Amino acid sequence: MNFNPGLSWEFLSADEIAAKTIRALRNHIQYVKASSPYYKEALKGVVPEDLRTIDDIAGLPLTDRTVLAAGSAAVAAAAPSAIIETVATSGATGRPIFIGLTDSDLDRLAFSEALSFNAMGISSSDRVLLLVGMDGMALPSLGYYRGLTLLHATIGRAGLPGHQLFRQYLEEFRPTVLLGAPSFLRRLTLDLTKNGYRPAESGVQKIVGVGESLKNADMSINAPGKKLEEDWNAKVFGSYAITELADSFADCLERSGGHAHPELLYAEVVDDKGNPLPDNTPGELVATTFGIEGMPLLRYRTGDITFRVPGDCACGRKSFRIGPILGRTDEMLKVNNQSVFPLVVTNALDELDEIGDYIITIGGDGLHGDRASIHVAAQPSAVERIANHVRNAARVSFPILISNVSTIQSMRGAWRRNARILDERHSGFRRG
Ligand SMILES: [Zn+2]
Repeated sequence: MNFNPGLSWEFLSADEIAAKTIRALRNHIQYVKASSPYYKEALKGVVPEDLRTIDDIAGLPLTDRTVLAAGSAAVAAAAPSAIIETVATSGATGRPIFIGLTDSDLDRLAFSEALSFNAMGISSSDRVLLLVGMDGMALPSLGYYRGLTLLHATIGRAGLPGHQLFRQYLEEFRPTVLLGAPSFLRRLTLDLTKNGYRPAESGVQKIVGVGESLKNADMSINAPGKKLEEDWNAKVFGSYAITELADSFADCLERSGGHAHPELLYAEVVDDKGNPLPDNTPGELVATTFGIEGMPLLRYRTGDITFRVPGDCACGRKSFRIGPILGRTDEMLKVNNQSVFPLVVTNALDELDEIGDYIITIGGDGLHGDRASIHVAAQPSAVERIANHVRNAARVSFPILISNVSTIQSMRGAWRRNARILDERHSGFRRG
């Protein structure tokens, strides 16, 4: 398989994309009704020709996460013998969801990630150090690997090294691009600089941040992103992958929103009843996949809150763009009758150098508002400044509790090393 960005619809006009999307949606409905037991039932009475305009999709049923959590076999559309790789969601929001991919689904995944990296200006002349776990049945790391292979970039699979090993990788492999979770990269960078290494002289030009946002709600680069840029003298790019969709939304060189890949997925931002919301209005990201054989999805509720970025991107792509993920629908904070996006609180905390680590705990019965507290590894004298800073950003007050790095790490447990939120409102902890 050769990478052919010309197969993408991203540079077509909005009208051309809309026309192709309607055809793709009709084909999709036909495929899922014929191949997936769940959709055969859920789409009873729906015929592809019902879709005359894009807006008609709002009349189709949403697919809830609980459908997949109950066992994805009912939704699966391909014969078990056609599945050549099984991936799973992290399981931090409950039971992991297992998803089977066919050979063609893996090619689609590679194409998706290659398009994203291509839009960031990453090419065959780049040397990319992947600082993510390649195991755990994870889809995103598999996608990065396959996408970069398709681009013919040179890949180093570093995993999650300590700073000494990381330094050796930097000196021997000489990456031009680093890819990893911003908080992990930040910790490694601090350890490197403490030990006399100068990241700005490493030759790294780009940093792809995954798993955590690099943006503020107003689309500016957040504090961790700016620190990484300063330390490495490099540019940061965000990429946000969703396992169930086998796809990602990623920054282009303009960094003005995560681009969807229109030939692979149709995205919507909707209210809690599934009605489309206007641009710039936060709501739940819902997506319909195109071209997936194993587990195709129709109007899948991702549980992630974001907004649609209006207008055309300066890069020339006409694809749907999303803002940063502001939080998950089940992690919205209700404090003093005010809704607060988790990203606003975490970004505010990330701006303060005096905080070594932190975790937000959310309790309450859901009826009388939430009890949210912020545990910080900081000096007691910093409490007032931290409380004021968070209140200014979030417009509500949170109790600040002094803790230390090892206590906060143990609150997370071994399997969620980067969690920033512990949600105790429901049974068990939720993803942070
Ligand atoms: Zn763009």
